[in-house]
Amino acid sequence: MTNRWIEETFHPHWRVALEASKVLHEDKTEHQHLVIFRNETWGTVLMLDGVCQLTTSDEFVYHEMMSHVPLTALESPERVLIVGGGDGGVLREVLKHSSVKKATMVEIDRTVIDTAVKYYPEIPGKSFDDPRADIVIADGLKYVAETDEEFDAIIVDSSEPIGPSAVLHTREFFADCKRALSKGGVLVTQNGLPFLFPDHLAGTTRVFASLFKRVAPYMCTQPCYFGGPFALNFATNDKSVLHVDEKTLAKRAKKRGVSGLKYWTPAVHNASFALPAYAQSVVDEAIAAGKAGNDTAYAHAPVEVKPADDKKKAAKAKAPAAAQPKASGSKKAKA
Ligand code: SAM
Repeated sequence: MTNRWIEETFHPHWRVALEASKVLHEDKTEHQHLVIFRNETWGTVLMLDGVCQLTTSDEFVYHEMMSHVPLTALESPERVLIVGGGDGGVLREVLKHSSVKKATMVEIDRTVIDTAVKYYPEIPGKSFDDPRADIVIADGLKYVAETDEEFDAIIVDSSEPIGPSAVLHTREFFADCKRALSKGGVLVTQNGLPFLFPDHLAGTTRVFASLFKRVAPYMCTQPCYFGGPFALNFATNDKSVLHVDEKTLAKRAKKRGVSGLKYWTPAVHNASFALPAYAQSVVDEAIAAGKAGNDTAYAHAPVEVKPADDKKKAAKAKAPAAAQPKASGSKKAKA
C-alpha cells in the first residue's frame, strides 16, 4: 500500500510534498482545513490550509525565537498575550519565565488545541493546565479590539496571511495591539519568508513604523518553512529593549529559570537582528515609508486551498493498474 503524499499548496509555482506514513487527523473545521500526519523525517506535522505550520522535529526554533526574544528584552514581563498559537508551543516557552504572572492565549479554532493535546502532547506539554494560562477561543482581531487589559508583551503566532489569519496582518489589528500594550511593551509577530514574500515583510514593517518609535525585524532558520530564513517583526516605543547586552540577557533568563533551550542563546538573540542585505533594504525602505505616513499593510493574494488533491492521487496510486479505465475505445470503461 503506497503512502499518501501531502503537498503544501501555498506557493503558486512550486510545491513541497511530505510522505504521510500515517494520517492522524484530517478535518475541515469551521475556520480552515487541518491535517495532522506522521512523516519519517519531520515527525508529527500540522498543516493548516495547505501550509506547514509545525513539525515536532524543529518546532523549538520558531517557538523559542517568538517567545524568548521579546521576553528577555524586557526587564520583568508579567502579563503576556499570545494571539493564535493553538498548538501551545509559544505558551510552553512563555511560561518558562517565572516573572510571567498571567499568559492569555486567544485562539480562533478549538480543534487546533484539542488535536495538539491528542496527537503531539509534547509540544504544549502541561502549559494548557498551568494556573497562569488563560485560554480564550475567539478571533484575535475582536479580542484585542475589545480588551481593556494591558500586556507587557503581545506575541502574534498567527498562520499565513490567508483564511482566518489574514486579519492578523492588518493595520487595524496592529493598532489595537499597540493600544493594549503597557508602557515600553513589545509587539512581536511572525512575518513570513522575506526571500519569497518581501512585500509581507515590507507591509508589516511599514505599519509598525507608522505606529511605533522602534521597529526591528529579526530572523531565524526554521527548517520546515521551505524558502529560506523566516522573519519575525518586533515593535516598541522603548529603544532600550533593543540594545540589551548578552550578559544581561543571560542573567535575566537564568533568574527566571529559563534553561534547556535548543536554539535561543543571548548571542543568537542579538545576531538575529542582523539582516542579510536583501532584507535590510526592504526594511529600510519600509521604515522610511511608514514614518512618512504610508501605513499600507500587506495583503496576500487569495490562495485556493485544495488539500484534496493528494487524496485523489493516493486513490489513483492505490488502484491496481488493471482497473485503470482503458484509453478511449474500450466500451466497458466508458460505460
Ligand atoms: N507557526 C505557525 C506559522 O508561523 O505559520 C503558526 C502556528 S499557529 C498553529 C497559528 C494559529 O493561528 C492556528 O492555530 C490558527 O487557528 C490561529 N489563528 C488563525 N487566525 C486566527 C484569528 N483570527 N484569531 C486567533 N487565532 C487565529
